[in-house]
Amino acid sequence: MDMTWFDDMEARIPKGEVRTRFAPSPTGYMHVGNLRTALYTWLIARNHGGKFLLRIEDTDQGRLVEGATEVIYRTMAECGLNHDEGPDIGGPVGPYIQSERRDTYGKYAKLLVEKGGAYYCFCEKTESEEDSGNFNRATDPCRDLPLVEALARVAAGEPYVIRQRIPAEGSTTFHDASFGDITVENAELDDQVLLKRDGLPTYNFANVIDDHLMGITHVVRGSEYLSSAPKYNLLYESFGWEVPTYVHCSPVMRDQHNKMSKRHGDPSYEDLKAQGYLTDAILNYVALLGWSPRGEQAEQEFFTLDELAQAFDLAGISKSPAIFDIEKLKYFNAKYLRAMAPEAFCKAALPYLRKAIQNPAIDLTLVAPLVQSRCDTFEDIAPQVDFFDSLPAYSNELYIHKKMKTTLENSLEALQVTRPVLAALTDWTYASIHDALIGLAEKLELKNGRIMWPVRTALSGKAVTPGGAVELCQILGQEETLHRMDLGIAQLSNS
Ligand code: GLU
Repeated sequence: MDMTWFDDMEARIPKGEVRTRFAPSPTGYMHVGNLRTALYTWLIARNHGGKFLLRIEDTDQGRLVEGATEVIYRTMAECGLNHDEGPDIGGPVGPYIQSERRDTYGKYAKLLVEKGGAYYCFCEKTESEEDSGNFNRATDPCRDLPLVEALARVAAGEPYVIRQRIPAEGSTTFHDASFGDITVENAELDDQVLLKRDGLPTYNFANVIDDHLMGITHVVRGSEYLSSAPKYNLLYESFGWEVPTYVHCSPVMRDQHNKMSKRHGDPSYEDLKAQGYLTDAILNYVALLGWSPRGEQAEQEFFTLDELAQAFDLAGISKSPAIFDIEKLKYFNAKYLRAMAPEAFCKAALPYLRKAIQNPAIDLTLVAPLVQSRCDTFEDIAPQVDFFDSLPAYSNELYIHKKMKTTLENSLEALQVTRPVLAALTDWTYASIHDALIGLAEKLELKNGRIMWPVRTALSGKAVTPGGAVELCQILGQEETLHRMDLGIAQLSNS
């Protein structure tokens, strides 16, 4: 076999640096578990000053989803998980899309046959039989066929698959960064198909070839691949290649017994965004689903992406499955929302405010600061601010407040004396409204609450509002304020 081409491929592999890859299949959405894999993979690269690659695993053409790769690019960019090499930006070991690497896999499968690690199998089997792993190598007539004979049948055009030749005896041990050494009896491993009848690789073969040719040093993936790892190890060994560091991550669970699943309605990254969560909060929370900081940072909960990159280490990855707790995510999100600069919060909250408040006369930039400390997610905004658009029907009971010492009677009086004072204002600003209301309370020798509470109630029809009487007056405008006070006066007069 002419090795020139293989030697060229080897020569392209970058050496002497940490190289990790995120290898998503384009499914159209980003699972929380996938996002975590992407994040850990990125963190390992950044922590070591290495390279982070994006590889699209689209060999399963039957499952392709329109626009799915865009979702991957968009999510990665939004999350700040920038890649150094990938389909969109190229790199030294491209192409970075598996469907564009087709020819490579066939050549390596044949090379592996030469090396004794695989064999041509001509047995007629349906694809499902081939996939099932239901294969008895002891009874397979092709496994021990002399290579010349097999090559002659290939040359004659007979259809074939290429199978991995698992040693009949002994055991295989592989090492995982979090699970440690795992040993499996070779008798339990099947001679899996590497190259299918149509010449396309199986996933298990393609990812080993790609990881090697791309110089990947750390393979981070879900623990569902743990059982395939011994077969990958045997492939690396048969080729004479160095085995990368495996980092298998335990699943993210919805409860004690079940994995999170989109099919069961568990949120993907996109869903969480749509539910009003911040990307930074999601990433922070997801980082801690299966990894914990150690040493001085052992108690730290809040991390920026850069801080995570500094702190991240393989030893902190947990073997036990993590349970996704939406309440915990909410807690992170609330902290992030409160910590935002007011302008940044306003900008991020605007789409939600715009949806909640249709009236164009309402200045949403005045509403934003009122809700910043009062929401855990952006979805909490709408129910708090709906009264700006239209005053809800409310009970007079709301006017009665023990601490404020307000009753139905004195609330009515308060509104009646306040209305003309506000109507007389020629300058409708926070300061002028504030001074007018406080001045009135002073003049009447009343506690501020005796004026503020009835006004706030009349303006909102709610027991709890973001902002007090002054803010609500300012935002609603003079005309609407007076109108709502009139309604309050009328409603209290009739009781
Ligand atoms: N394409 C595989 C997946 O999306 C990646 C597995 C791996 O990282 O090796 O599950």
